[in-house]
Amino acid sequence: AAKRAGRNRTVLFEPSMHEQALARVDTERQLREALREEQFTLHYQPVMHLPSGRCVGFEALVRWQHPQRGLLAPGAFLDIAERSGLIVPLGAWVLREAARQLREWQGEADLAGLFVSVNLSGQQLQVPAGTPDDLLTVSFPDGLHLEITETSLADTPEALRAMRALERRGVPLMLDDFGTGFASLSAAQRFPVGTLKIDRSFVSPLPGDARQTAIVASVVTLARHMQLNVVAEGIETAEQAQAVTDLGCTFGQGFLFSRPLPAAAAAAFARSRPLGTARPFGGTGT
Ligand code: C2E
Ligand code: MG
Ligand code: MG
Ligand code: MG
Repeated sequence: AAKRAGRNRTVLFEPSMHEQALARVDTERQLREALREEQFTLHYQPVMHLPSGRCVGFEALVRWQHPQRGLLAPGAFLDIAERSGLIVPLGAWVLREAARQLREWQGEADLAGLFVSVNLSGQQLQVPAGTPDDLLTVSFPDGLHLEITETSLADTPEALRAMRALERRGVPLMLDDFGTGFASLSAAQRFPVGTLKIDRSFVSPLPGDARQTAIVASVVTLARHMQLNVVAEGIETAEQAQAVTDLGCTFGQGFLFSRPLPAAAAAAFARSRPLGTARPFGGTGT
């Protein structure tokens, strides 16, 4: 400990070093420790069937219970996790934990039909087959979906092979932040996805002018023709919910319905808007 304090003191008196770079190295060291000590937790944001108001599933979102800084959202550490490669073991942890939680919920009759989606980093698709963090070594319960953004998807043979392997295993894939990349249409065509998630930046301006409305209307039409589910992200107001529903969007998530919640609170939320025997979130169809 004395040694570590000494090193920190040196750092303080070294004006030529960039504070940002230091903070990054420090966060990286803390991230490694956090992985060892399991300081991460998942929050679950409800996904709603808009016409009926039922909760159909959750998106799992990682949080870091930092010993000094409190509960941190991904914006505070994901970038460093990506750059250091720590996103690979972190992502593997997220996947195992989400699968464990989903199996637990599937043991309860009133929660059994819900899905849980997990965000993937493109780096997780580049892991060599058969090594410890290889996605395909995970056993995926029914109802576990994966979300991937176009921008994080490296267009490599490995990534495509991994996605095809996941498809063969029947793991549903969602294209996240749809519309924010330069080649969203091409991504929807090339990758075996079953759901488009319309980015919040298209939902926020609604109800808006004709141009803003046309984008969402077009995505919904595209999805219908491709037999994909479509989820509107970041719905904050009743007017936005009405607008996306009027445009034919079947599913939505956002602060209007619920913020991401710890598992027990998420389960309570779902029970208050029960799915019953309805299964609106199928593999195909909007
Ligand atoms: P995302 O996958 O697009 O997730 C949605 C983000 O929008 C979440 O932020 C959520 O809390 C926030 N959000 C949901 N509804 C609303 C709303 O109505 N208004 C506003 N303003 N925001 C809303 P969060 O949890 O901070 O996550 C940010 C991003 O971090 C995620 O964006 C995702 O790309 C990434 N992420 C989260 N968890 C993981 C993970 O386990 N692995 C990886 N690789 N990435 C993750
Ligand atoms: Mg997501
Ligand atoms: Mg998203
Ligand atoms: Mg987003």
